[in-house]
Amino acid sequence: MPHIYFDNNATTPLASEVKAVLREIDECFGNPSSIHWAGREARKLLNISREKIASFLGAEEGEILFTSGGTESINAALVGVWETGVRSQELGVRSRNQIISSPIEHHATLKTLEYLQSRGAEIIFLKVDRLGRIDLEELHSRMTPKTLLASLMFANNELGNLYPIEKVGEICREKGVFFHCDGVQAIGKVRIDLRKIPVDLFSFSAHKFHGPKGVGGLFVREGVRIAPLHRGGNQERQRRAGTENLSGINGMAVALELCLKNLEQDNAYILSLRNKLEEGILSKIDGVYVNGDLSNRLSNTTHLRVEGVDGETLLLNLDLEGVAVSAGAACESGSLDPSHVLLAMGLNPKQAKASIRFSLSKYNIEEEVDEVLKIFPKIIRRLRG
Ligand code: PLP
Repeated sequence: MPHIYFDNNATTPLASEVKAVLREIDECFGNPSSIHWAGREARKLLNISREKIASFLGAEEGEILFTSGGTESINAALVGVWETGVRSQELGVRSRNQIISSPIEHHATLKTLEYLQSRGAEIIFLKVDRLGRIDLEELHSRMTPKTLLASLMFANNELGNLYPIEKVGEICREKGVFFHCDGVQAIGKVRIDLRKIPVDLFSFSAHKFHGPKGVGGLFVREGVRIAPLHRGGNQERQRRAGTENLSGINGMAVALELCLKNLEQDNAYILSLRNKLEEGILSKIDGVYVNGDLSNRLSNTTHLRVEGVDGETLLLNLDLEGVAVSAGAACESGSLDPSHVLLAMGLNPKQAKASIRFSLSKYNIEEEVDEVLKIFPKIIRRLRG
């Protein structure tokens, strides 16, 4: 049975070039904090990786700190800004306790906000419309002198929707509010220049762009202070204690370099496959609707609502044919709950549960799309009885 992988927003296969550098790392086993030759070699590699990642993102080296992935970066940004703010408050400098976000963020953000609420933060969620879009005027009008931070994503992991992050950043600047952007689904898929985006903190994760799992980063703009999540050593300019995951970081730098090398051509190729898949399904099967903002989304994602079918059942049937996709709250596979993103957009639980996400990558080929276009209608016909 062929294995077709259309779940690249959940995670991506490692690029072969990244696999090769992960093996090479055997030679460079030192602790980057040690001062002897082995440590120096490791530090050199760490510095090279940091330089590369910083230059790809339009950042300074000192603005990149390495973490264990998107979830940690988001926690470090939100809790870090909050705790710094609380400390300033104790010193009588500031009295801001509001955080603005949206209900369609990843659970790494939503659960961290829940935690901060338990610590005294007032969380304001913006409304989203039927296409999953936010309203910039609402963002502007909900900011008050008590707003400390806004946290909004660049690209939504379920829908693929892209958000007007530059404009969000401008509003935050105007109001003197910190801005954290969850860039996990955007980096490697969209060219990002942090010199041009007025963002204070930006989270990313290597396994979403053909890098290794369990490694990521947080951009913290020069001058922005965050209290560290971990206590321990002085690594990462005292902002993230713990020996760095050197092989992962090196792999992440190589993976990002590869993604950006031919980004526009790769995106055009991915888009052609995605459109063929989407148009093929829409033309072959009645009662299928695309969720999200069709005019403004990642080129690799299509999120479909298939009337009269349960998304989980559809996923399992596709899996039996060797096709991997996502349903429900996508990153947490195994979750039977309807997607919080679709519910926030006004879909009812039944409609939300009838949805399924295909997310492609440059490693997919047209024959795989053709194969799914053969299998999919048969499964739908069977499931609809
Ligand atoms: N944010 C978004 C938008 C994501 O899609 C994910 C991945 O599932 C995360 C955050 C969490 O990233 P990680 O899996 O690296 O912890």
